[in-house]
Amino acid sequence: MADGCKLCHRAAVSDGYCSYHGSAVQKVKESFAAWSQAYGGLGWEDYLDRLTKTDGTGKWVLEVIRDMKSAGA
Ligand SMILES: [Zn+2]
Repeated sequence: MADGCKLCHRAAVSDGYCSYHGSAVQKVKESFAAWSQAYGGLGWEDYLDRLTKTDGTGKWVLEVIRDMKSAGA
């Protein structure tokens, strides 16, 4: 199956995301541990909420967060 990215028209390379959205997902996941620690055990949902409200969160990251939240993962 040659699916495209869930969030844009580019070809999907991993997990249904293109390389841009895929690396945004990686960044979100990688930063979670540090954030969780910094905020004393921040939960995943709260973390995503905070990220969306943080200045400097990139367009790609915002798009994958929206997708993760709507997927209810
Ligand atoms: Zn994409």
